[in-house]
Amino acid sequence: AEKVLDILIIGGGPIGIACGLNAKKAGLDFLIVEKGCLVNSIYNYPSTMTFFSTSEKLEIGGVPFVTISNKPTRAEALEYYRRVAVANELPVRLFEEVTELKKEEGVFIVSSSKGTYRAKHVILSTGFYDIPVLLDIPGEDLPKVMHYYKDPHYFAMQKVVVVGSSNSAIDVALETYRKGAEVTLVIRDEEVSQRVKYWVRPDIINRIKEGSIKAYVSSELVAIRNDEVDIQTPEELVTIPNDFVMAMTGYQPNFSLLRKFGIELSGDKLQPYHHPETMETNISGLYLAGVVCGGMDTHLWFIENSRVHADVIVEHIMRI
Ligand code: FAD
Repeated sequence: AEKVLDILIIGGGPIGIACGLNAKKAGLDFLIVEKGCLVNSIYNYPSTMTFFSTSEKLEIGGVPFVTISNKPTRAEALEYYRRVAVANELPVRLFEEVTELKKEEGVFIVSSSKGTYRAKHVILSTGFYDIPVLLDIPGEDLPKVMHYYKDPHYFAMQKVVVVGSSNSAIDVALETYRKGAEVTLVIRDEEVSQRVKYWVRPDIINRIKEGSIKAYVSSELVAIRNDEVDIQTPEELVTIPNDFVMAMTGYQPNFSLLRKFGIELSGDKLQPYHHPETMETNISGLYLAGVVCGGMDTHLWFIENSRVHADVIVEHIMRI
């Protein structure tokens, strides 16, 4: 018969790697299967991004994350997680997407784009960065509309509408403005989100106040056309000329995959069921780890408070 792993870990993000480190310490036979490159989500962050967490809080497996400034950059995080994975010789399969999971006679059969695995336990740590929350308005499918942002230079001398008011949106607005874009922010709430990094928030507020960045608050983008957009403000419908729309309206877990695997989703945030003390889902032997746990509430979990999932899960697996 085919080999049966102790644990198959789906997703090679920081938390999937943290689970792997614990599994290794426990002497278990495991494998991490990742659909993109190592720490794929972080790789796809804006190239200029700085974490809001201090490096200490991004550490996994007790390995020190040494940086000179207290908030690490994307490049430093890529370096750290890669070094941790390589130095610990974690078994990782990259560019391999998990697509199916079923349980037969107490053993999980997990299929990917490249093969099939058997495992006694499965940890799902697939994050939420793969699927953007859509605006659901006419014109959203135009090529000038983007849900991911890499670099500001591309938008120099262009008219850019940024939708949203959380960290991603505010970073895009400030960076593109500083590379010469004409930036208009469209914010659904009454003000810039209180979640914006405390050292960034005064910057955006002052740029709006002085008029360098135009902001429509309590407003929604309602239509996008090739060379203009419509914004519904509290007073009227405003039409402005436009070259690019950066829809930084958040991301969501792959709910269809979770449903297909049989994981119960509950409440208006579609929270995937997990026992709060063991992280086990409604399917025995199938665990959730990392930011996927929050469902639509993607602000609930981050690296600092979810890295402990790795300890909890591996301890539970060793106990049962
Ligand atoms: P992820 O890092 O998203 O890892 C999930 C992995 O699973 C991905 O690599 C993905 O490719 C893979 N995957 C998904 N589906 C499959 C599949 N079917 N088969 C195989 N592999 C799959 N958190 C902080 O703690 N501090 C911060 O400062 C911070 N800044 C952030 C800034 C941005 C712009 C964003 C978007 C998030 C930020 N976060 C921050 C949250 C951060 O994303 C998470 O904390 C962290 O990446 C979560 O780790 P994770 O391992 O749970 O998920």
